[in-house]
Order: sequence, then C-alpha cells, then structure tokens
Amino acid sequence: MNCEILNVGTELLLGDILNTNAQFLSQELAKLGIGVQYVNTVGDNKDRLKRSITNALEHSDMVITTGGLGPTADDITKEVCSEVFGLELELHQESLENMKAYFNRFNHPMPLTNEKQAYIPKGAIVFKNKFGTAPGCVIEKDKKLIIMLPGPPRELVPMFNDHVNPFLQKFSNSIIVSHRVRTFGIGESALAEKVSNLLDNSNPTVAPYAKDGEALLRVTAKAETKEEAEKMITPIIDNLYSQFGSLIYGVDYENIEQKLVELLAQKNMTISIAESCTGGYTSKRITDISGASGVFECGIISYSNRIKNQVLNVSEDILKKYSAISGPVAVEMAKGALNLSGASIAIGITGIAGPNSDETGSPVGLSFIALTDGKSAWVKKLEIGRNGQRDYNRYVTGSHAFNMARMYLEGQIDELGLERIDF
Ligand code: AMP
Ligand code: MG
Repeated sequence: MNCEILNVGTELLLGDILNTNAQFLSQELAKLGIGVQYVNTVGDNKDRLKRSITNALEHSDMVITTGGLGPTADDITKEVCSEVFGLELELHQESLENMKAYFNRFNHPMPLTNEKQAYIPKGAIVFKNKFGTAPGCVIEKDKKLIIMLPGPPRELVPMFNDHVNPFLQKFSNSIIVSHRVRTFGIGESALAEKVSNLLDNSNPTVAPYAKDGEALLRVTAKAETKEEAEKMITPIIDNLYSQFGSLIYGVDYENIEQKLVELLAQKNMTISIAESCTGGYTSKRITDISGASGVFECGIISYSNRIKNQVLNVSEDILKKYSAISGPVAVEMAKGALNLSGASIAIGITGIAGPNSDETGSPVGLSFIALTDGKSAWVKKLEIGRNGQRDYNRYVTGSHAFNMARMYLEGQIDELGLERIDF
C-alpha cells in the first residue's frame, strides 16, 4: 500500500501556517509501513484540487487529504473528491446529531451553514470528530481510497489516532521502527564519513542528519513485527556505541538537556547556572524538562558586570584584567553560582551572541563556558562565529554547557581536552 498526502488550503501556500499535518501524517504512515510517495499542497481552488486528486490517484493506492472540510464556501474537498469518484453527497444523520450536540455543549444554536458538513459521499465510512464539527471519511473505488481529514491539527490528530490508524492497520503487512542515536561534538559530515560503510544498507537503513548544532543517526528497520525490527536494529546501535563511545549521549532523547536532567536525578545531584550572553535561555531549557525541579537549584542572569560582581562575587580586578568575555570570568561566575546555591555542580557562561560585538571587539559567537564542582573547574572556549544568528549562538553555547555537565557526570569530562583548573 502506498499513499499521497494532499494538504488543501490556500493559507498553506501563502506560508501563513506551517504544514504540521504533513509531518504528523508522514511519521504515522511510516510507522504503519505505508509508503508515502508524494506530499502535495494545493489551494482552495476547485480545478486545481480536482487535478491534484486525479493525478494522485494515478500513481498512489491511497490519497489522504487534509483541510477543506469546513462549513464555508471555500471548503470543497468532499465535493471535489465525490465528483472524482462519481458519488452523490447525502445527509449523514448521525454526523448532524453529533454536530448539534457539539454546539449544544457551548449553548449555541447550530448555524445553518454547518449542516453542509454533515453531507457525506454516499457509501463512505465516517470518522467521528470529537473536537470539532467536520467529520472525516473514507471512500473507495476500483481499489483506490481517498481519506478526507479536517485541517485543524487538534481535530486531525485524535481522529487519526482513534479511527484512521486502526482502519489502516489492515492494509499494512509490515511495520517500521526508527531510533535516533544522538551525538554531541562531531559534525554531520564527519559522522557520515565514519559510518559510510552503513549508509548503503537497505534494511535497516542508517541515515545521518544535523539538528540544532548536533548530528544524529537515524536507524530504521522494516519487519513484520516490532520485535523483529528491534532485533535488526540492536546490533547496529551496539556497533555505533563501540565506534563512537562517549560522543553518543543517548538514543531517542529529545535533546541533550533531557539526558542531563536524567543523569542528575540518577546521581542525586543538583545544578545551578550563571549565564550572561544566553540571557536565561540555558536555564529555561533545563526547566523545560519535566523533573527539573528535583535537580535544578537556580539560574542567575548576570548580564551586567556590576551584577557579576555584586551577586556572583566575580572580582572587579578579574573583570578588568581579562574582560567580561573570558575564561577566568566564566570560572568565577560558575563558582559564584555554586557558592550561592549549594548545588553539586555549576555552570558559568559568558560571551557575545551578536549580531554586534562589544567594546573590546571580541568576535561574535565567542563564548567561554566553565563547569565547576567546587574542587576543579573546566573551561571551554567556543567560537561558533555565526554572525547574525543570535538565537543559534545562544542555543549551541547552552548545548556545549550541558554536554560538559553530562561528560562530568559520566566521569568522562577529561576526554574533552579542556583547560582544567584545580583549586
Ligand atoms: P480547514 O479544515 O481547511 O477549514 O482548516 C482549518 C484550519 O486548520 C486552518 O485555518 C489552519 O489553521 C489549520 N490547518 C489546515 N491545514 C493544516 C495543515 N496542513 N497543517 C496545520 N494546520 C492546518
Ligand atoms: Mg481550509
């Protein structure tokens, strides 16, 4: 079984909204082992929509449309799909009742225009919409299927999970399992080069890609059952671990801060962060992770030199001698955060996110990160050098800080080859 996703809506073509339905459906269909051959987007225009559907049916067994099921005149997906299959639209009493009940819950009478949404192609299987008015449906002709789903993701996602997924399972005789091996400290091309012997595999496949300043490998297997697929993937991941060691921070983590919070919790340890150029972003990322309250003591945004001095106790002499963007200041900031909070470890970050430099002329994207446990400190000088990409610079700086803490907790920080100061 193969498929085309056809996203309907002029707002998508104008770039007003991001086509998240395409991403969601692609991911879910892949898990079902249904090959998505094309993803196409078309505006709310009858002729072009009809042509897109006819084209899609020529090369795919199934078309899944999203959007255009609303009550207004520009919502024409059902009308056009019915026309392509030569089906009449007829009133679906149950959908009409559901819709009336939906409006009743909000104490509104149902506007007459909504009745249009209860008209369904004759012979269709109807998918109930728990979170909106437009039901979804599937029609079949000559072994070809069209599945029509509503546009709003908050309606589409539950409808897919509750109804469409079980419906599609009977067409799929294989499933696809994917795992993401997350690395830190190696670039995408270097990683690809080192695993070049695996890149031509056809099952499981190994694919490198870059994400937010990190490189990762996606290992994907297709098999009849999940267990079989997992069995095919395990030796590959084991091999990657023996090849890359601590460059791999985990499998299927969303990000490195998730790994760090998990490690801190396992070791019953806490962390504090003093940050300047990252402006709270690093602390925010830690607190995005559920469970952060058990491991995160505090974040201090010490932007000005006065606060670095008064709150974190960074001496005026050091600030003057080395300037705010320097290794010694990062170390003093980390020590200040550690002393203030009593955390097990602390991070200090100072640098220039850009786009403009400071009065000392330090290059944009230069930062210093220090990690301390009160006995020693490790300092990293980082030159990201992405001019004009303030957010990227701040993000990647934070990621390096998390990686230093992760390596420390795993007893491997000396592998990073950083400057080390023992107090
Ligand atoms: P419709 O079902 O065409 O009336 O779509 C209603 C709303 O759903 C649109 O205004 C968007 O906000 C949202 N929407 C439609 N298509 C998509 C899509 N492909 N991805 C994300 N949101 C969408
Ligand atoms: Mg629309």
